[in-house]
Amino acid sequence: MKRKLLGKTPEELKAAALEAGLPAFAGKQIAQWMYVRKVRSFDEMTNISKAGRERLSELFDLGYTPASGCQISTDGTKKYLFPVKCALIHGLNACEITPDEKMEEAFVEAVMIPDEDRKTLCVSSQSGCKMGCRFCMTGRQGFHGNLSVADILSQFIAVDEAQELTNCVFMGMGEPLDNYENVKRAIEVLTADWGFGWSPKRITLSTIGVIPNLRKFLDETKCHLAVSLHNPLPQERADMMPVQQAYPVKDVLNLIRKYDFSGQRRVSFEYTMFSGFNDDKMHADALYRLLKGLECRVNLIRFHQIPDFPYTTSPSGVMEMFRDRLNRLGITTTIRASRGEDILAACGMLAGKHKTP
Ligand code: SF4
Repeated sequence: MKRKLLGKTPEELKAAALEAGLPAFAGKQIAQWMYVRKVRSFDEMTNISKAGRERLSELFDLGYTPASGCQISTDGTKKYLFPVKCALIHGLNACEITPDEKMEEAFVEAVMIPDEDRKTLCVSSQSGCKMGCRFCMTGRQGFHGNLSVADILSQFIAVDEAQELTNCVFMGMGEPLDNYENVKRAIEVLTADWGFGWSPKRITLSTIGVIPNLRKFLDETKCHLAVSLHNPLPQERADMMPVQQAYPVKDVLNLIRKYDFSGQRRVSFEYTMFSGFNDDKMHADALYRLLKGLECRVNLIRFHQIPDFPYTTSPSGVMEMFRDRLNRLGITTTIRASRGEDILAACGMLAGKHKTP
C-alpha cells in the first residue's frame, strides 16, 4: 500500500521529496499544493517536473478521496458521502502501512452547513462509533474503524466548497477523542501557517467527554470545545450514554473548570431534548447547578427521531421554557436550528449509508 502524503508536515514531505529524487524544497511545494491550493492530484502540481510527479505517484498516494455521493437539503445543507478503508475487522489500527488486502471498505459522511457569511464543515473522525449513545444513528451501527489523518483532511478538500469553508466542527460520525492522535494531527495541519492557516477559533471539537484525551486536547490545542451533555442526572445520563459509567459528567466538568474559557476560547454544552425525559424544571435546575459559575453556553437541540427509540423530541414550547429558565438563572442558552433533516444530515442522524447522488 502506498504511503499517504495528506497530513504530513513540511519536514516529512521534504523526506518524501528526497526519497522520490526531488530537491528538498519540493517538500514545501507539495505542502503548498495540498494545503493551500487544495489540489486533488499530483498532476496539478505544475511547478514540479513531470518526471518528478511520476516518481512521487509511484511511491506515494496523495491521500485524497473524492466523494461518492452528495445530497442537498432544501435549506442548502449538503451531505457528502466518502468511502474509507478501515482495518478494524482484522484487529489493526488503520495506518499507512496496513496492507490493502487487510482493509475493509466503509463509509463516512461530512456535512456542509451554509449560514449567512459562513460555511461550516461538520467532519467525521471515525467510521461508526464505539460509544453506543442510544439516541444516535452512528452509535447504532457499531464501530468500523478510525479514520486516518488523510481521510479526515480529505473531507475538507473534496467538498465543492473547499476554498470557501470558514469553520469546522468535529461533530460528524465518531467520537473524535477516541481517535485523538489523528484528529490532533488534522488540527495541526488546519491551523499551521504551512497548512490551511486557519485560526483555532474556527474549529470546534465535540465530545461526550473521554477524560484522558480531553485533557490532552485542552492542553495541546486552542480550539473550542463542545460537550455532549444531554442530561445532568448521572443515572439518567448513564441510561442514554454508557460513557457516563467510565467518565462521569461531574468529572468532565471538574476538568473543564481548570481551563480558562473567559477569553477567546469557548466551551458549550449540547443538550438534546427528549419529551418527558430531560426537559422539565427539575432538569433545568440540575443543569444550572452543574454549570454554575462556568463561562459557557448551552445549545438545546431538537431530537431527530430514529427508529426503535422510545422518546420523541420535546415540543417547541417546552424547549423555549427550558431555555428561558436557564437564561434567567444566568446560563446563556439558545435553541439550535436544525439543519439538513430532510437528507438525514442533522445531529445524531449520520449513518454512512451508501447512496448515489
Ligand atoms: Fe458516538 Fe457521538 Fe453518536 Fe455518541 S453521539 S454514539 S459519541 S457519534
